[in-house]
Amino acid sequence: MEYRIGIGYDIHRLVNERKLLIGGIEIPYLKGLLGHSDGDVLLHAVCDALLGAISQGDIGEHFPDTDPKYRGISSSELLKIVIKLVHSQGYKVSNLDTIIIAEEPKLTSFKGLIQSNLAKLLYIHKDCVCVKAKTNEGLGELGNREAIACYATVLIKKEQ
Ligand code: MG
Repeated sequence: MEYRIGIGYDIHRLVNERKLLIGGIEIPYLKGLLGHSDGDVLLHAVCDALLGAISQGDIGEHFPDTDPKYRGISSSELLKIVIKLVHSQGYKVSNLDTIIIAEEPKLTSFKGLIQSNLAKLLYIHKDCVCVKAKTNEGLGELGNREAIACYATVLIKKEQ
């Protein structure tokens, strides 16, 4: 099979006294995302999309939140392990598309940085990564600023 696709989704609760990391970029905000790792909701969605594309389950199976080894770990480190797994199966990432759903903070000025960092982590050109940010129109927990959610979809191609 030459091409495979994968989808990823994640949501994390916003709490006080945590750094806000999205796509490996620290965003200035009064709250951050709760999690066993650094809570980087976008990188987790990307990990799940990649694992899905190679039919290797989900991030929770690979990095259990009961394992003290992963407490406070940078999600960039998790993504580095996942991309190695993708490459080890003979695939290269073609492109990545993402959506961040956050009522606050406004992410417009950080999208370029997030895009570049994702491209670097996936060993692809920046033009092959899209980062979209939107609000939840004030609806539900996301709209009430209680959480941030992300979707990611990825296409991978078998290397010749
Ligand atoms: Mg997560």
